[in-house]
Amino acid sequence: MHPKPVLIIHGGAGRIEEGGIDLLEYRKSLGEIVRAGYNRLQKEGARAAVLHVVRLMESDERFNAGHGARLQQDGRARLSASLMDSCSGRFSGVINVENVEHPILLAALLSHENNRVLAGAEATAFARRQGMNYFNPVTPVRQTEYRRRLTAEHGTVGAVALDKTGVICAGTSTGGTGYEMAGRVSDSPTVAGNYASAEAGISCTGIGEQIVDMAAAAQAVARIEEGRDVAEAVRKTIAEGIVRGYRFGMIALDRQGRTAIGETPGVRVTWARCDGEKPELFSIGAEE
Ligand code: ASP
Repeated sequence: MHPKPVLIIHGGAGRIEEGGIDLLEYRKSLGEIVRAGYNRLQKEGARAAVLHVVRLMESDERFNAGHGARLQQDGRARLSASLMDSCSGRFSGVINVENVEHPILLAALLSHENNRVLAGAEATAFARRQGMNYFNPVTPVRQTEYRRRLTAEHGTVGAVALDKTGVICAGTSTGGTGYEMAGRVSDSPTVAGNYASAEAGISCTGIGEQIVDMAAAAQAVARIEEGRDVAEAVRKTIAEGIVRGYRFGMIALDRQGRTAIGETPGVRVTWARCDGEKPELFSIGAEE
């Protein structure tokens, strides 16, 4: 029997008390994007759907990915993204690439190479060789945040999809936390922040260093592979994060199409899910 396709996306983890972001707008964007992505999922499969929705969020300057990425301490926006699908079992990504609109597309292109993770100037050079034009992702809002030396954990984007052939794909894209040390690497272009196997896929958001310490995405997927239910695996990983006083969240989807959202206390992941029925949405704005 073919599984029912499911798509789940997130727009990052925010502090409950965090102001300044229009959550209703966020929620509306996520709803529209998940619907568009679901259409792709039905027609073209999990990988095409994940690439489509992550690209849409990278183009939407409200999100901290692609256009609208946060700036590091030297005033430059460095973008990171990764992709993994159960069909190839290959992880690929870009770390701190500059002046491109869609780092997720670079991650997709790299999945066909022998060397699948590229960083810094060489990743940017690879983008140009692939015909990606110069794109300035910096927006006035991010410049203001930079001047205020703001760091935040909101707006990283991610998606996990299951298609009718049973392929699971996960993708994540970020501009980092903002005002971090120049060259800092987040969890998003690592298997701690984004992971998929034939059993499940996970995309994380929150404090990257803490997500890496826990190898959160890969670890939770491993738990599902060992037979745990997706909700239980996510709960266990989050519980371990709580013990350490960490702040992060994750979205998870398994091969039966079951989804789970995990959040440490004080963190809310904005997400949207679609399984062909009416999208079911959650955001801080809706709940608080
Ligand atoms: N995980 C990202 C980072 O540490 C931030 C986020 O999720 O918003 O760079």
